[in-house]
Amino acid sequence: MQYSDYPSFRNQLISGQSDLAETVEHFLERIESLKHLNVFLDVYADEARQRAQQVSAKLRNGTAGKLAGMVIGLKDIIAYKDHGIQCGSRILDGFISQFSATAVQRLLDEDAIIIGRQNCDEFGMGSSNEKSAFGPTLNYLNEKKVPGGSSGASAVAVSAGLCHASIGSDTGGSVRQPSAFCGTVGLKPTYGRISRWGLAAYASSFDCIGPITRSVTDAALLLEVMAGKDEYDSTAASLPVEAYASFAEAPRASRIGYFKDALDSPGLDPEVRDATLARLEELKKQGHQVTALNFPELKYLLPVYYTLTMAEASSNLARYDGIRYGYRTADARNLDDLYRKSRGEGFGKEVKRRIMLGTFILSADYYDAYYTRAQRVRTVIMKKTAKFLEEVDFLVSPTTPTPAFDLGKKTQNAMESYLADVFTVHANVAGLPAVSVPNGKNREGLPFGFQVLGRAFGEKDLLNFAKSIE
Ligand code: GLN
Repeated sequence: MQYSDYPSFRNQLISGQSDLAETVEHFLERIESLKHLNVFLDVYADEARQRAQQVSAKLRNGTAGKLAGMVIGLKDIIAYKDHGIQCGSRILDGFISQFSATAVQRLLDEDAIIIGRQNCDEFGMGSSNEKSAFGPTLNYLNEKKVPGGSSGASAVAVSAGLCHASIGSDTGGSVRQPSAFCGTVGLKPTYGRISRWGLAAYASSFDCIGPITRSVTDAALLLEVMAGKDEYDSTAASLPVEAYASFAEAPRASRIGYFKDALDSPGLDPEVRDATLARLEELKKQGHQVTALNFPELKYLLPVYYTLTMAEASSNLARYDGIRYGYRTADARNLDDLYRKSRGEGFGKEVKRRIMLGTFILSADYYDAYYTRAQRVRTVIMKKTAKFLEEVDFLVSPTTPTPAFDLGKKTQNAMESYLADVFTVHANVAGLPAVSVPNGKNREGLPFGFQVLGRAFGEKDLLNFAKSIE
């Protein structure tokens, strides 16, 4: 079945060229036949079928919402009332959401169909989807490769055609990096553009919900529906939501900046570099002004990101104590033992590593040396980046230094895995919007991503530009 974007699919539904019940059936069959990729942890087959009937009736009588019949998968970190949510972790065994995330409720209100919940790295901590308690997800384009992470399965679901779009979360690149590895579009909005209510917290001052789609149009449409103020999240911005998906104005000539050091870095895969340079040349030909920038603070991005996110994670994950949620150890002798064993048995290795490092970073003796200092550097980076964005309209880079790597390759060495996030964490450290669009493939047929980072709440311009280079 051909699917380019939601507006054309909707036209097909209305004209009778496509049938919604059949579409849902097609996805359910495909999910079943590609089960070995380990994408969905739960499939809501009967509900999806029922909703297809209801939404079809609405389409017939003209009352259908903006996303009528768009079939969506949710990363296992976003709450959907009366459905399981485990954040890829044993610690939430058997836990059922008691409410829906604001973003999810808004999708439902516009008649989207939610087909299931998707595997991910535990609590969003990972770059390969190998850190899930439910086992790794395979990359549909090459099953020996990782799909990226932490929203790896959400990107595979879109690239393998198991649903129209997925909703993931991006704390340091988890929507964009798997999009680059799977050939999809991934959008991380400005911090606060989409409410975090119902998104399980990893690092609250970085976390963002974001769509993974086949087209920039769909990403814009989903943003339009999910964005906006929310009384349940005081960090959700009350700025008006623009019509992101009406790409009326022709994109003007833009000023585009890139960091020279980033492209010169020896860790950059040569084919990724070539594809990025080719793209920059093309942008020049299209009349954009392309400038090389100097950003000596580039090397601090990863240390700042990991110092602060681990600190925040250690605090956020304190709530999983074996008493209030999910998993509880079977043999505890006293209260202390109950906490210790439940957490020890419930969390995976990577999550424990981060909780311990984060606790150390926040400990009285080291707080100033690590936490305070990282906050200061974060402020410097924010200010510098804002300054760059006065000189240029967008900052561009490869989304990742390499294409999808082999399964198992980086599981032994945590540092190596952290390095995969070097280009994506910038947007999260600075709280800015960024989108990854496909940018060709290497000799093995693995896709590259091209990342465009824009001004705070500049999603309209950002998406317009992304669409022009899609
Ligand atoms: N890979 C990064 C990390 O492990 C980003 C994860 C994310 O964005 N959730 O923290």
